[in-house]
Order: sequence, then structure tokens, then C-alpha cells
Amino acid sequence: MFTAQCLGVNGHGHLTVGGADCVTLAGEYGTPLYLLDEGALRRNCKAFASAARQSFGEDAIVAYASKALCCKELCRIAKSEGLHLDVVSGGELYTAMSAGFPPENVFFHGNNKTAGELITALEQGVGHVVVDNIEELRTLDALGAARGKKQPILLRIKPGVEAHTHKYVVTGSIDSKFGFALENGEAAEAVRLALAASGVRLDGLHCHIGSQIFETEPFCEAARVMLRFIKQIKNETGAEMSLLNLGGGFGIKYVEANDPLSPEAMLAAAGTAIDAECAVLGITKPRIAIEPGRAIVGPAGVTLYTVGSVKNIVGVRSYVAVDGGMPDNPRYALYGSEYTALVANKALEPADFKATIAGRCCESGDLLQENAMIQRPEPGDILAVLGTGAYNYSMSSNYNRLPKPPIVLINDGKARVIVRGESYEDVAAFDI
Ligand code: PLP
Repeated sequence: MFTAQCLGVNGHGHLTVGGADCVTLAGEYGTPLYLLDEGALRRNCKAFASAARQSFGEDAIVAYASKALCCKELCRIAKSEGLHLDVVSGGELYTAMSAGFPPENVFFHGNNKTAGELITALEQGVGHVVVDNIEELRTLDALGAARGKKQPILLRIKPGVEAHTHKYVVTGSIDSKFGFALENGEAAEAVRLALAASGVRLDGLHCHIGSQIFETEPFCEAARVMLRFIKQIKNETGAEMSLLNLGGGFGIKYVEANDPLSPEAMLAAAGTAIDAECAVLGITKPRIAIEPGRAIVGPAGVTLYTVGSVKNIVGVRSYVAVDGGMPDNPRYALYGSEYTALVANKALEPADFKATIAGRCCESGDLLQENAMIQRPEPGDILAVLGTGAYNYSMSSNYNRLPKPPIVLINDGKARVIVRGESYEDVAAFDI
């Protein structure tokens, strides 16, 4: 059962990623090891770009949400695929700028940007700051005006649409730390302030309804709500919103039960809903942007570990301990996220062993997966966890002073390091 797009099995019965033997890679680079298949990554970029053009029009924007995995090479790949970029901190912005990413194609997010970050955005010429709250609007306005600049902005709106994997509910949704609520007039007030401000230029609106979404209707409903607000703004102020950014959240296949739609199917439904709503409202369709993160990089990633101990506790469970864990992938510990795992050097053997895959940290909750059906593991085996491209490296830590693993990019069987692994010296580098 292989969930990632980049996988195969070679003549040795070994798992391959992007055509490269995982067992060989583990020997060469050590474990834990993050692998990324460049072919899969680029295919995903192209699939979203072409689906967006087809569904939203030639001027559609696909911004890679770099929080999913931010490093210079990912920024270069996004740039070379013609994508824009979503950053959410000064650190992500710095990474993008260091990689030569065009600042005008950057959306700068965040619910609590510092004045320093806003100054950097202004000075770098960031395309759009996505303003989250009134304080930020006032600060940015003052900073822009003081520099004789009118910073292009979007306002982050809570559309009141909450997405869940198998159902969606329209809620009040005021209870979110992100953005301006529609229901209480906050959003309309922010629009009035932004239109009157001299240091910012209001180009449009942004929303993001959640993550790992499999259904089209929440996206369609969010788009309709936002278009109605655009119509309301036009009626009340005469201002046209020329850009509507609908955020990310497109689901991927972590386990067999996940059944994501293709980007084409997902965006086609949203495109149809947008066209229909614009016609009903009698408004000009704004330029549409989306911000996929997980769906671009997630399926292209695999993490390799070496199995250490295997503890079969009769009548309880079997712990299979690996040489990584919550520091390189905190998602199971945080959210109970599901993953598919297999023993890379036994890829063709039956997956009939029920394992609790445990990390090496001093923490009982340091698990990568429970009830995972894998090939019978032995110490020294290479365990692969699939679909780890998104929110693994980017959420990693040095808990227990474990050095972060390298990221190796594979292209057509050829591997190269794009983020070097840390040493103990790196881990202690800032200690005084
Ligand atoms: N855009 C915004 C504003 C987000 O907050 C996120 C994720 O949190 C994304 C895009 C990317 O979401 P995903 O990786 O689920 O596509």
C-alpha cells in the first residue's frame, strides 16, 4: 500500500523514491533522513498551476504555502515553476529573499507580525501583506506613509466556513485567532479604514478555511461568501476588490482511507461556483489566488529511519523504536496524524505486523504511529514513513538535543543535499 506518488520497488525488493534505492540512500546519508522527490514536487506545482488557469482564468495565481516546507531550494523550485509564495514570518521571508524569490510575488501572512517584519516587507517590496487585524493595519499604514509608500494589502477575512475532512459546517466562526469576522462588522470596518489609509492600498481579500480538506463544497461556499462581501464593499464604498485569495488546505493521501480529488477536480468545482456567484451578484470576477502547501510538497516526501529495538509486549503491543521521532515529525504527537509506514528493505514482504512506531525521545507520547501494519521488523531495518514532505521538517525541533536530519532531493535517481543535517556542534552552537 503506497500512498506517496514518488515510490517504487526495485529488483532487490527495496523501496525507491524518485528512482533511488532507499536502503542505499540510508547508508550514504545516514538516518533519520528526509527525502523529497523533485519530479513529484514539480508535477504537483504544474498540476495546480494548470488547474488554476483552467478553472479561474489565465491570470490565476498559485502561491506555494512555504510553511509546509521552507528552505531556499523549495523557494527556487516554486519560482522556476512560476508559482508565487506565501510566507508567514520574517524567517520565511528572509529565506525566500535569500533564494532570489521575486518579492512582488510574495503574500506575507501572520496574525501577529512585528513592526520589524512589516518594515522588512515594505523595504523588500513584498507584493501583498495580508493584514490580519486593526493594529497591524494602523502600524502598516503609518510605516508606509512615513516612507511615502502605499503597500498593497489584502484583508484576511473569516468567512464563517469551517472545513472538516468528511463534512463541512457553516459556523459563526468568530472564534479564530486569524483575521476579521464578517458577522460583527469587523471586516467592513477594516475595509473602510484601509480605503481611507494613505500608507496602504487595498487590493482585495483573503480567506483560508482549514487543512487536509477533501470536499469541494467548503471551498465553493467560502468563495461565495467572499464574493458577496466584495459586492457589499462595492455597494457601500464603490471600491472594487481586484484580487481574491482563497488560501490552501487541499487534502492529500496519507493512508488508504484518504481519497483526495485531483487539483483539476477540486479547482473546477470552485471555478464553477465563482463564475456562477459573480453572475448572480453582477460583479466582475476578481483575480483568483490559491495557496496550496501540503498538496504540493507532502506527497513528494518520505522519511527514513533505522529500526533499533523491537519490544513485543505479549498481550499489549509491539513497540518498534526508530532513531528519530517527534523532533523530526511531531504531527502524530500533536494531532494523532495518520501515516503509512513500511520496512524499506522488505518492501515486497507482507505487511502483517502490527506496530507502534516509537521515537527515541524521553517522552511516552513520542510516537510516529500506532497500529501501523508493516513488514516484520528487525533491528537494523530501514523504516520508511510516507507522505512526510509537509509540516515535518518545517515543524521539527531539537528536543533532547537531537540534530535535525538533512533533506535530500532526488531527481531521476540522483540525490543531492538541499538542507544539510545538523551536527552536535550545530545543536550547541548558540550556547554561551
Ligand atoms: N494559506 C494559509 C493562510 C494557511 O494558514 C495555510 C496553512 O495553515 C496554507 C495556506 C496552507 O495550507 P495547506 O498546507 O493545508 O495547503
